[in-house]
Amino acid sequence: MIYQSILILKSRVYRRTQGRKYALEVYDIIAASADKVDFPQLENNIYINLSFDLELGFNGYFYKNQFKNAIKKGAEALDNIKPICNYLEDSQIEYNVQIVGQLLTNNLSDHIFSSEQIGVIKKHPEIFSLDHLTCQNLSNSLVELGSHGFSHRVFQNLSREEANWELDKVIDIFEKRFKKRPVFMSFPKNKLAYVDLLLEKGIPYYRSIEQFMSLDKGGMPLGMMLSSITITPRELDKILKIIKQNQQPFLLHLWSHFTEMSVEKFDQYIKVMKNNGCLFTTTSSYLKKINNQI
Ligand SMILES: [Zn+2]
Repeated sequence: MIYQSILILKSRVYRRTQGRKYALEVYDIIAASADKVDFPQLENNIYINLSFDLELGFNGYFYKNQFKNAIKKGAEALDNIKPICNYLEDSQIEYNVQIVGQLLTNNLSDHIFSSEQIGVIKKHPEIFSLDHLTCQNLSNSLVELGSHGFSHRVFQNLSREEANWELDKVIDIFEKRFKKRPVFMSFPKNKLAYVDLLLEKGIPYYRSIEQFMSLDKGGMPLGMMLSSITITPRELDKILKIIKQNQQPFLLHLWSHFTEMSVEKFDQYIKVMKNNGCLFTTTSSYLKKINNQI
């Protein structure tokens, strides 16, 4: 019965997104709720971990030297970030934010950036650095801060030394700006490499690329991207109802970048989650709850 619902949903999402890989992720999430994940879950609840990667202008377009698109995407994120953070604070919803370290400093490393890229960064400071107010917004106790790399370069393209350098820079800049270390890592483009370095440097959790990952080993199950391209509020409602029908406690990781939707659109998704009785959590507070339960 549950598998039938999954298959119908899978084919519908697959058609609408024209075969984008997200359709498969939708399928995996629900399948993950049917098969037991080998990890203690919190009784009778669907916990949702909202997780935002914050890169502003340092996106994929920037590294392809498509600066017009990079700035457009960065500006979209900039428009949405404050209203969404304020909305989450007003609603007292806990969430995770992973920041590209370079957004927190004006020092530009010329071994990373070309002179052309440096020119673009200097011309659009608001798109390539986080202002004081946004940093304050992100410093409140509802937010668990994490790293999205230092430069947003893909770790799989870096040497071990470069990856090491990126992580050290991120930790250093976090300690300076936020007086704390990052506790979560979302790898740029979700392409994992040198995962062992995280533990070495005291970053305990990361976004994994598997749905069946056990969070106590550090990897947050991938979950899915929350955007109006990948899923509509109605589809999210269906997914949550299927999980509930299956009567399984479940941890759903929903990630995005502040670029995917305005606060008005975001509100529609949050209402669906609340109407289904979902609770919200950060990565470490979920683990804390699990440990208290055992
Ligand atoms: Zn990213």
